[in-house]
Amino acid sequence: MKIAVLTSGGDAPGMNACVRAVVRSAINYGFEAYGVFDGYKGLVEGKIKRMERNDVGQILNRGGTILGSSRLESFKEKEVRQIAVNNLKALEIENLICIGGDGTFRGAMALNEMGIKCIGIPGTIDNDIACTEFTIGFFTALDTAIDAIDKLRDTSFSHQRCTVVEVMGRNCGDLSIFSGIATGAEIVITKDTGYNEADILKQVQKAESMGKRHLIVVVAEHITDVKILAEKIQENSGYEARATVLGYIQRGGTPSAFDRVLASKMGVHAVELLSEGKGGYAVYTKSLDVGHIEFDKALIQENKPSDLYKYLSKLN
Ligand code: ADP
Repeated sequence: MKIAVLTSGGDAPGMNACVRAVVRSAINYGFEAYGVFDGYKGLVEGKIKRMERNDVGQILNRGGTILGSSRLESFKEKEVRQIAVNNLKALEIENLICIGGDGTFRGAMALNEMGIKCIGIPGTIDNDIACTEFTIGFFTALDTAIDAIDKLRDTSFSHQRCTVVEVMGRNCGDLSIFSGIATGAEIVITKDTGYNEADILKQVQKAESMGKRHLIVVVAEHITDVKILAEKIQENSGYEARATVLGYIQRGGTPSAFDRVLASKMGVHAVELLSEGKGGYAVYTKSLDVGHIEFDKALIQENKPSDLYKYLSKLN
């Protein structure tokens, strides 16, 4: 059996860890592994190469994707996808793992309907795929955003400023609300909260009346022009205000511990599905719920061994 893997859409830290997991576990299952370069575009152009164990050495900790990524609007057309299917069939590859966001999943679903068994793995910093609690890359991007906002906070405090920070996320507010909580932001504005300028100015004035020396306002991208919002805040409060757009630094960097482990688990899981002849699935994780339990019950429970042991042998 042959399994190909590609990365598509926006790159995300941890994609390499996932490619490694797919290639290594496919080989450990006795399958042949193939890498498709530059996403669906490369698939149409026939950029498909056999991958051996060592081809994915030294990439676990690297940001971006060694396979490259792309966006190809015409992949929505059946004739274009047929070229991709033909390229795979010419190499007798019947299985494909697509790592990317919701657009990538749509492409994978369409290919699945055309006879290639496809599995989608959520890889995007935006965390904008509803079926999974977290996507590969989200927590690394979050760490980057937090680090940047912490640095902005130093100046914000020293100069008694209101710092308005634009955080990425496409149409999803998760990077903003998580980074807002983690940096102690006073105001977080996303698609979920809606944008009401009068209300925001009221919140700023309230913070000022409470004697807050400085203020952090996190705004998700595509909500408003943060420079103009900062000017409005400065005009309507005692704070000097400055705007910063964090931008693409949030997409790069070495993946966090969480993303490496999540990517490794998801990669192995995807290969397991294909080994059982299953295609047409999106891999997900659900994990970080907070709950409560009586002390006596909490203390009689034994620590269960981690489920990670079963993955270890597949990853080497
Ligand atoms: P992401 O996967 O990060 O959401 P995009 O939305 O850009 O990124 O999607 C990545 C690629 O997936 C697109 O460039 C296109 O090639 C393919 N794609 C997106 N939507 C579809 C669709 N409806 N049908 C087929 N392919 C699609």
